[in-house]
Amino acid sequence: MLFPANETNLQHHTFAQLIDGELVPGAGTSEVIDPGTGEAIAIAPAADDDQVGVAVDAAQTAFRTWRRTPLAERATALRRIADAVEEHADEFARVLALETGKPLAMARDMELDWAIRWVRHFAELDLTPEVLRTDEDYRVERHHEPLGVVAAIVPWNFPLFQSLYKIAPAILAGNTVVLKPAPTTPLHALFLGELLREILPAGVVNILGDGAPGSSVGPTLANHPAVRLVSFTGSTAAGRKVLSGASSTIKRVVLELGGNDAAIVLPDADVETVAPQIFTWTFNYAGQLCVGIKRIFVPDAMYERFAEIFAELAVSRPLGHALDADADAAFGPLQNAAQFERVKGYLAQAHADGKVIAGGTVDPRPGYFVPPTVVRDIGDDSVLVREETFGPVRSLLRYSDLDDAVARANDTTYGLGNSVWATDTIAAARVAERLESGTVWINTHVGAYPEVPFGGLKQSGVGTEFGIQGLHEFVENKVIYVPVA
Ligand code: NAD
Repeated sequence: MLFPANETNLQHHTFAQLIDGELVPGAGTSEVIDPGTGEAIAIAPAADDDQVGVAVDAAQTAFRTWRRTPLAERATALRRIADAVEEHADEFARVLALETGKPLAMARDMELDWAIRWVRHFAELDLTPEVLRTDEDYRVERHHEPLGVVAAIVPWNFPLFQSLYKIAPAILAGNTVVLKPAPTTPLHALFLGELLREILPAGVVNILGDGAPGSSVGPTLANHPAVRLVSFTGSTAAGRKVLSGASSTIKRVVLELGGNDAAIVLPDADVETVAPQIFTWTFNYAGQLCVGIKRIFVPDAMYERFAEIFAELAVSRPLGHALDADADAAFGPLQNAAQFERVKGYLAQAHADGKVIAGGTVDPRPGYFVPPTVVRDIGDDSVLVREETFGPVRSLLRYSDLDDAVARANDTTYGLGNSVWATDTIAAARVAERLESGTVWINTHVGAYPEVPFGGLKQSGVGTEFGIQGLHEFVENKVIYVPVA
């Protein structure tokens, strides 16, 4: 057990980076803040550009051997990683709750559970060469070649899950990895490094710390000439920079970016049933889900009651720290100070552009708390509707014509997820077909499975994660013509 069960301050633990199989200090350090108190809870190492170079070199050296390691051995390594994470699930959940601010139950039952299941899923996937055709002269085979060094760059919202669903397919395919967590949530990743050091050969996975938002560590890693693929999850603005940097050495990129998901409620839906469910996937984790519901289209006839239910639910649950006994029934904080400031701007905009019927002001307690804020009677041209708000401020949009609602839902540069809510699920499926996003759910939102591909359309991303299609992002085709004489 790394951290005592009641530990909320991790200052006594020495966190280190994993570079070339060694636990090494950073070139600098940074304080990690608990967003539920605003207090420092740990000191983390922070890499500089030189350490990025050392980590990439180590990954490049390890690649020579790892790519030739049999697939079965690489799959065994994945199973051992899943076992190790599972064995330490309580510690991981605690660290994640403390640094991300998400309720402990969500960290354990959702993030840890998903992370472990995804790693186990990838361990069972096959990369045996396929025979594409055979004739009297040749058998044509497609081989799945690893790319080399993969840069895995993740945000702060579901960071262990995001890190492991990148690391697992990358190393199964024979690549090596340099992982960079977000500056505000490094602890789970550094802890993961301690476990991976016992399982993987030196250099196969390297894990860096990143001292401050806006530091050069992410760009230096992403733009490093020896990196062959950047697997990036984050904002569309940063994704654009990664894509542009990739052009100089023609790197592969997989970009999972922002979203502005719509939920369209159809006129036949039972408002008493669907409004609370939509509420959950709107305000869960303080609205900081990439595929959380951001715009809610409600038919005229249902609008008043829907707004009433949303406002009642918004004030019915307390705000609470991630480790509070009943934290899963409470709303947690925003994850970091910059995010807090951004959401304060949205609160001001909400009062200017619409009618705020719940929340609307910052909570005065320490930490970064904003209560769920429900805005009604707001136009589609408000920045609250046009931008990805990524915080607990949400707009209820009224519609009278379904075709118009579909057009408005599609009127965004994003295309990550959408959902349709109805009693007649056949009619809902027809609406789902017209929505422009990588995933459309009917009568739910956010659900994911390791074998089901996930990705964004339009400016929500490039490429796919999860499943065999996600695994194939980490290989390139090599075709061999074998004479059959
Ligand atoms: P962000 O883009 O600011 O940062 C994400 C990560 O990229 C961090 O590790 C950051 O240090 C790094 N980074 C930033 N600029 C970079 C650059 N130029 N080159 C290389 N790395 C760079 O995003 P954030 O604020 O941490 O996270 C919130 C965003 O992430 C939201 O837009 C959200 O929708 C998105 N997100 C998307 C998904 C998805 O699967 N589509 C999942 C979670 C979050």
